[in-house]
Amino acid sequence: MGTVTMSNPNVLDHLNNPSPRTLGRSPLEWLERLQKPTVVHVAGCDRSRTRAMATLLHGNEPSGLFALHRWLQEQHTPEVNMLFLLGGVYPAKIPPAFSFRQLPEGLDLNRCFKEPFQSEEGAIAEAMLAELHKAQPECLLDVHNTSGTGPAFAVTITNDAEHQALTSLYTDRLITTDLRLGALMEYSEQEVPTVTIECGGAQDDQAHHLAYEGLVRYTSRADVLSLEKAEWDVAVLRNPIRVELAPEATIEYRLEPSGQADLTFPPDIEHRNFGIVSPDEPLGWVGKKGLSILTAISHNRTGNLEQVLRVRGGQIYPAQAIKAFMITTNPVIAKSDCLFYAVKATGEPIF
Ligand SMILES: [Zn+2]
Repeated sequence: MGTVTMSNPNVLDHLNNPSPRTLGRSPLEWLERLQKPTVVHVAGCDRSRTRAMATLLHGNEPSGLFALHRWLQEQHTPEVNMLFLLGGVYPAKIPPAFSFRQLPEGLDLNRCFKEPFQSEEGAIAEAMLAELHKAQPECLLDVHNTSGTGPAFAVTITNDAEHQALTSLYTDRLITTDLRLGALMEYSEQEVPTVTIECGGAQDDQAHHLAYEGLVRYTSRADVLSLEKAEWDVAVLRNPIRVELAPEATIEYRLEPSGQADLTFPPDIEHRNFGIVSPDEPLGWVGKKGLSILTAISHNRTGNLEQVLRVRGGQIYPAQAIKAFMITTNPVIAKSDCLFYAVKATGEPIF
């Protein structure tokens, strides 16, 4: 972040130790009052240290903001100074609130944490990085929601004791990836241990609750970077592959295939999330095109799908014991993003 100190000072608003009155009675009221991406500073018991948390980088992922609103309303004094960065205020404010990931004509803010910072979102990203550089926090969390429902997990680009300890404040699953997208965690990692927290679905009360509980742990502990103090043992999943569906392929979620679709998954396939699926457990059904409608991609190349899945009697089975996650039952996401991610049952990459 060394070069990122000349950002425009008018890009962000600042709130210092906000009182309950300035926050509104609900997160929605607070959002109405926010005019720009906002930095919230809260003084801690130990004023020599700071921890940072970014959230709402995606305007339709409100758990972190809900948690922060509640936590600020309760007027806690954190163990150390806290720096909160609320990124996607503009998309979040578009009615109905918290429904737009990014502005309709805008860019995904969490892909803009890289040079040359030229777009409007790039300017926000650059200003956020400048705030982090100025505050020199000991660590940074970036709190998100997933698009479907499903359990919480963390994502990092580094796997060491500090990252596992931070992860354990929220969840016992850590995905590490060599994929680079221009996300906040990639840029900030150069200066400070950074963990992205996916709290679970944007509509899940459980996700909102976890975001709050995690925030209380993050702000109230003297030490959040030692593994001895960790809340849970963390299972690490390295470099998952993405299994993608061909754009022209059709998918159905049914208990039995209708014969019309190229791929059929049972409606409760989401229950497979993070569980181990053995080679004798069927995942779903393929149509006449077989597995040709699917592609398996690692962070840097297309791999051999036969290492992941195979077909017996029209049914799809894992080719080896796998752990799959972010399985979606939303056909739009299945087609536009990916069907699921997977690693070996051991947590190691499939390829
Ligand atoms: Zn997100």
